Amino acid sequence: MLPQELIRRKRDGASLKREDVKDFIAGLTSGAVSEGQVAAFAMTVFWRGMTTPERVALTLGLMRSGVKLDWSDLGLPGPVVDKHSSGGVGDKVSLMLAPIVAACGAFVPMISGRGLGHTGGTLDKLSSISGYDTRPDIDLFRRTVREVGCAIIGQTHDLAPADGRLYAVRDVTGSVESIPLIVSSILAKKVAEGLDGLVMDVKCGSGAFCDTEPMARDLAQSLVEVANMAGLPTVALMTDMDRVLGHTVGNALEVVEAVAYLKGEAGRDARLHEVVMELAGEMLALVRLAPSVAAGRARAQSALDDGRAAEKFARMVDALGGPSDFLDRPARYLAQAPVVKPCPAGRGGYVTGMNVRDVGLAVVAMGGGRMHADDAIDSSVGLSQVLDVGAPAWCALISLGIQHEQQHQELILTDLKHLFSLNPLQ
Ligand code: URA
Repeated sequence: MLPQELIRRKRDGASLKREDVKDFIAGLTSGAVSEGQVAAFAMTVFWRGMTTPERVALTLGLMRSGVKLDWSDLGLPGPVVDKHSSGGVGDKVSLMLAPIVAACGAFVPMISGRGLGHTGGTLDKLSSISGYDTRPDIDLFRRTVREVGCAIIGQTHDLAPADGRLYAVRDVTGSVESIPLIVSSILAKKVAEGLDGLVMDVKCGSGAFCDTEPMARDLAQSLVEVANMAGLPTVALMTDMDRVLGHTVGNALEVVEAVAYLKGEAGRDARLHEVVMELAGEMLALVRLAPSVAAGRARAQSALDDGRAAEKFARMVDALGGPSDFLDRPARYLAQAPVVKPCPAGRGGYVTGMNVRDVGLAVVAMGGGRMHADDAIDSSVGLSQVLDVGAPAWCALISLGIQHEQQHQELILTDLKHLFSLNPLQ
């Protein structure tokens, strides 16, 4: 079917046939479909939505525009499983989860993304480790997965390349926030990873793309339905993003928090731990390495407690070009902010809430994220000791790690403290 005919049918409310979607994606990949037609298609889907079979067809079409990874020739002695998060602020879960699940016998080829808008990206966090290669060739990636059990790397151009073109057009035409398009975009890349199972972490709250529960539920349900119909066994959790996850926001700072977590140092954030354990339990149960989620959690906890997870992380960093003693001396290999300043609350009280999106944007403004796709990132800057809801605000709400004193004045002037709400002391 001609692209303009397909767009017209969708515009008028018809459901597209699998063959028609397939043809459109073929044109998207070859360039036969014009930029204007891609934009019109995306906007039409934005307004008209898509049925589940259409979403499955779009997912598989995008996936088939590139290669699909195949792990069968490696003779791995365990299942291949991954986790994907819809994105949050302070979300450093992947850094701990991949080695924990690998230490329990699974193989985790985790292909992660860069920061988007106010949310951070796992790839940017790992890039702050000197020497760590986030774009290894496929042989090194496969070898690391086989020998270590996990490898966290960046998106390759071979996986679902048609999604790259569609996403770029959506990005500049106001059609990113469409559930069918998001579902197909995420799952095309995950199906292409050749997994035995996928666990989705759909974030919900002021720091997430889905800021309401109905929206997060809609996304989670569609991800599960479409992935399973596309042949990828998937479950989804909805987790809270109305608070920063953990104590830190910023690339190097989050790596430091993840390393301390894996090493069992004091100050492990209870909410972060709960998210990591629940996701680990779900992953292990999904691929039958545990008879239940509770049993999976217990296995994950013991891999953390006896140091096997920390060892996996250290080996992954080493295998991908990072320092072999990174776990012993992380500070030596991570950029550190030259100026550290407290951000006082200004009055007494207890923290009752925070505007998580604006906390994320504050880190972007400090240079820790991107305003434009090709911006460089300052991995040293960020926020540490972020107080959680319920904490008394007698000490600083947060500490700022910044490049120079003047930046401190500017950030205090924009009043980071107003991003936190307080209940006054009685
Ligand atoms: N992440 C993706 O990969 N695609 C989207 O459309 C949104 C988030």
